[in-house]
Amino acid sequence: MSGRTEFEFATATRILFGAGKLAEAAPAAATMGKHALVVTGSASDRAQKLLESLKQEGLKSTIHSVAGEPTISDAQAGTECARKNECDLVIALGGGSAIDAGKAIAALCSNPGQPLDYLEVIGNGQPLTQSPAPFIAIPTTAGTGAEVTRNAVLASPEHRVKVSLRHSLMLPKIAIVDPELTYELPADITATTGLDALTQLIEPFTCTRANPMTDALCREAIPRAARSLQRACENPNPATREDMALASLHGGLALANSGLGAVHGFAAPIGGIFEAPHGAVCAALLPHVMDINLNALAEQNLKEDRYTETARLLTGNSHACPQDGIQWVKTLVAALKIPGLSNYGISKGDFPDIIEKARTASSMKANPVSLDDAQLTGILQAAL
Ligand SMILES: [Zn+2]
Repeated sequence: MSGRTEFEFATATRILFGAGKLAEAAPAAATMGKHALVVTGSASDRAQKLLESLKQEGLKSTIHSVAGEPTISDAQAGTECARKNECDLVIALGGGSAIDAGKAIAALCSNPGQPLDYLEVIGNGQPLTQSPAPFIAIPTTAGTGAEVTRNAVLASPEHRVKVSLRHSLMLPKIAIVDPELTYELPADITATTGLDALTQLIEPFTCTRANPMTDALCREAIPRAARSLQRACENPNPATREDMALASLHGGLALANSGLGAVHGFAAPIGGIFEAPHGAVCAALLPHVMDINLNALAEQNLKEDRYTETARLLTGNSHACPQDGIQWVKTLVAALKIPGLSNYGISKGDFPDIIEKARTASSMKANPVSLDDAQLTGILQAAL
């Protein structure tokens, strides 16, 4: 291993963080276009305030809501809607699903052809030839960090898999992270999205592609998620919501510029085959992936120092050992009553199919240690 440090770091052009920052969306939008396609999740009434302020700024808007995690046809329908209404700007306000849908629509509406021309794995994977429409991402959950990533995850029900539309041009022009938008989030969604955020800090920090900038982001945010996730679920206040919003943002910045690991390697095929929310799947897998990764590192005589540091960041105890960190995560997952994977209809008979697909997932390749089929089966069995 050489001692050279090399990395690339890219993110949204502007990031606005803080309670009340939603107010800056419409004035910024007015400098970028005249007619906004506003992409939301199923609760489109949440966009009311934004729609009013767009109107005040003299912009036209067309609302387009996407129920659940977006499919390729959802992206196509949104693209047609944007073209028909001659929208020249896309704003997504919602959870990771709405943001990924908006990101895909912004890219597809300015590029010719079909989504499959550009999709990885199941499509031709062609690069985009045109810049996407200007895109503003405004998350209303604290979980995915999709407001600062360059890919949109789309499900293909036909292929029973989730794939990415990915290009550096797809990085949002503006990411507005306003913790106020998460104040009313119910406890169960706070828990699963928050555990996704925590996973998206632990996996980049322990993965093979970690770099000094992503490390700094993870070191800052893991303790925030650790102190505030359970409180944000049980007894939320502005401080815990702010911590989780920042943890989610840092997780997105970290994963987009380093990598992930086996939790996300599994989450892609599981989310493609079963109706299971991404955050809930990650939450169910996280402690078991950590467990088996740690064993595999020891077996292969690889360094455990990242797991030691993770344990110290999580527990606040400067003498904690890797097992303490795993135990801390297990206790949290139990306290937040995260159901196992069998809750989504997954059973042992599905393991070979899931494992075969997980092996080809890009996240699996950055896992800190390579895992064989027996170890991968062990993770699924423990997470069931
Ligand atoms: Zn995730």
